[in-house]
Amino acid sequence: MAQDDANKLTREDFDAGPCSFDEIEPSLFLGNLTAATDVDWLKEVEMTHILTIDSCPLPRKIQECLPNLIIKYIQVTDMPREDLLTHFEDSYEFIDRALESNGRVLIHCYFGVSRSATMVIAYIMKKRKLSFADAFQVVKSKRRFVAPNPGFMAQLRLYEDMDYGVDSTNVQFKMYRLQIAADKVRKARILPQSCVDLVKPDPALTTVRPEPTVYRCKKCRRIVASASNILPHAPHEKQIWRHISVKNPKAAENCDKPVPRREEPARVELCDKIYFVEPLAWMPDITHTVEGKLNCPKCNTKLGSYSWISGSQCPCGSKIAPAFYLVPSKLDWSNIVQNVQVTV
Ligand SMILES: [Zn+2]
Ligand SMILES: [Zn+2]
Repeated sequence: MAQDDANKLTREDFDAGPCSFDEIEPSLFLGNLTAATDVDWLKEVEMTHILTIDSCPLPRKIQECLPNLIIKYIQVTDMPREDLLTHFEDSYEFIDRALESNGRVLIHCYFGVSRSATMVIAYIMKKRKLSFADAFQVVKSKRRFVAPNPGFMAQLRLYEDMDYGVDSTNVQFKMYRLQIAADKVRKARILPQSCVDLVKPDPALTTVRPEPTVYRCKKCRRIVASASNILPHAPHEKQIWRHISVKNPKAAENCDKPVPRREEPARVELCDKIYFVEPLAWMPDITHTVEGKLNCPKCNTKLGSYSWISGSQCPCGSKIAPAFYLVPSKLDWSNIVQNVQVTV
């Protein structure tokens, strides 16, 4: 063997441990990579489907030994900021189709502890209409060491908040997607095409069903934001999508342990020292510059700033990243009655 090859570590040099799996529901298995590559075991239990959630796909030999096996591969690492949430729906479909056709499905990652456990919990939540905490306990009762990382736990809570689907009007989901986009901007220095839908239409140009409440430039009266563009935050809050609810900022502190089914969250006053908003089409350069000023598109008065990467800190102490913000003293708030008076 050449010297170079001998020094190169391959994935096989790392050990996922002995074959480990648990049957969470009849015919639904959660396990590690060793289980997913154990051809004898896969044959023995007559596995029909494998969902791989790992940084590498399964070795080709598995499919060669078991040509009828249906495999789905989702490439993610076990990092809290990895996006599993947008894969919950198609994973659910894959698992459900396998079970509906009387098949047997293995969901695995490397250790069968965090990534694959997250997918199984999401499946159980939707299938049985359970809260995150209850579904977590169902899975934990069958595989005691399951432990989604804190980012995945927050994604599961958000999934519960959105009734086991994706709700693009949910403020936490907006923040979640902005954070994913910001991670991409950090690497590529531009906003990738897959995220441009995060830039919302210019509210001044909205003619179909305009919103009753709008924010105008104080100097020239141009509309610069609608009420739905505001991303509310509570004082001293960080990374607001991680919270169960904007009204319950304490929740994020308990990210690493499952919380009991929640009661009506305590009302916390929202901060109005700065308006964090969604990126809007009138904001110049935001798709290809990481930070800059936000000037009124009509009179050029400085209204705020944006920063994809470092974000900004509100005077209340809250730090939000990425941040697109408008300073309230530069704006006028108006409702539909005032709008009619202005346009008549
Ligand atoms: Zn203006
Ligand atoms: Zn604030």
